[in-house]
Amino acid sequence: MHIESFFMKLRTLDQANVSGKRVLVRCGFDVAMDEEGRILDDARIRECIPTIEYLISHNAKVILCGHNGRPKGKIVKRLSMNTVAERLEQLLGRKVLKLDESIGPDIEKAAFALKDQEVLVLENLRFHAEEEANDPAFAKSLASLAELYVDEAFANIHRDHASMTGVTAFVPAYAGFRLQKEIEMLTKVVQKPEHPFVAVIGGAKISDKIKVIKKMLEVADYVLLGGALANTILKAQGISVGKSLVEDEMISIAKDLTLIDNRLRVPVDVVTAKAIEKNVPTTAKAVARVQDDEYILDIGKDTVNLYEMIVKKAKMIVWGGPMGYFEIKEFAKGTCEIARMIGQSDAFSVVGGGDTIEALDQSGYKENISFISTGGGAMLQFLQGSKLPALEAVTEK
Ligand code: ADP
Ligand code: MG
Repeated sequence: MHIESFFMKLRTLDQANVSGKRVLVRCGFDVAMDEEGRILDDARIRECIPTIEYLISHNAKVILCGHNGRPKGKIVKRLSMNTVAERLEQLLGRKVLKLDESIGPDIEKAAFALKDQEVLVLENLRFHAEEEANDPAFAKSLASLAELYVDEAFANIHRDHASMTGVTAFVPAYAGFRLQKEIEMLTKVVQKPEHPFVAVIGGAKISDKIKVIKKMLEVADYVLLGGALANTILKAQGISVGKSLVEDEMISIAKDLTLIDNRLRVPVDVVTAKAIEKNVPTTAKAVARVQDDEYILDIGKDTVNLYEMIVKKAKMIVWGGPMGYFEIKEFAKGTCEIARMIGQSDAFSVVGGGDTIEALDQSGYKENISFISTGGGAMLQFLQGSKLPALEAVTEK
């Protein structure tokens, strides 16, 4: 389906009659936790709150479900939804009922006993292998709890799992407010870009992002590359990148890209080191001067300046992927500078990706970004126009 039609034909929550109904909401409860299971960042939980509050204020009986981490069909205590339920109680300012299962007789009993405005939280769906396997019986049990289904898990929209697609065979499905907003904003980027439109793409693997780079070359005026994925392009251009992370199997595709498109920009200078560790001596140099025993770990000052000249003129910017190995302070500068220049720009800006958002957080420019997507892989897949069955499930045919 054409991207624009998703937004046009999205079945949104405001179209549903939820009063007195049991409504199953698939939430994005996949939050970062520490070893003890304490929540490090509750942004994804907070993004679900408007939809939950809407349901409460419209007298629905609210059943919340989601997954956390990759327990792979096993019960992993640290990944229990107990802490999520506690956080929900704080955020909603009301009691939340939490059980230790996501399907079965106890859950059915609790769901059918819910009164209007009450909230029930199910256990981590991925404690059952049937969730990721999209097992129809599991999906049916989950769906049997409710009369309506709301998808509020954009970060998971590229997953064909029981709680994302399977359930929608059994109950009418709607898009929650946050999901609606994500689709609206990302549709705007690909369908109605304001020019100059600049895409900044970095991160680890070009194989993950090659399709989105190609898509952006269709719609954007400039595509600025950085991070490890730029190494593969540099190598394809015949530049020696030393010990840098490269995906050799992508070289021929990378060659095709650079030959056809002068809107694609790669770093002209870089920061290198002989090891990827803290406090290591670093060198700034032109890309042509990278030695055989060096790693490219950040973009250089000249590249930052060149990119800034382009970013400064932009009316619309999308950014995904750090410009360097930002986890180590010595190689975080390029990424911080990109965050700064996008933050300082008046352009409509969209940023996504787990690591990118972490870097953005550290930069202090988060508040200046027009829209921060909750989905990393999901955002990329949407932007590149992949078929997303979970999205089709909440879209009019
Ligand atoms: P996002 O999560 O924002 O989509 P990715 O997961 O694609 O981003 O990429 C982030 C990772 O890429 C980070 O762990 C970062 O250290 C790594 N990275 C970026 N540049 C380099 C580089 N030059 N060499 C090695 N790793 C890099
Ligand atoms: Mg990542």
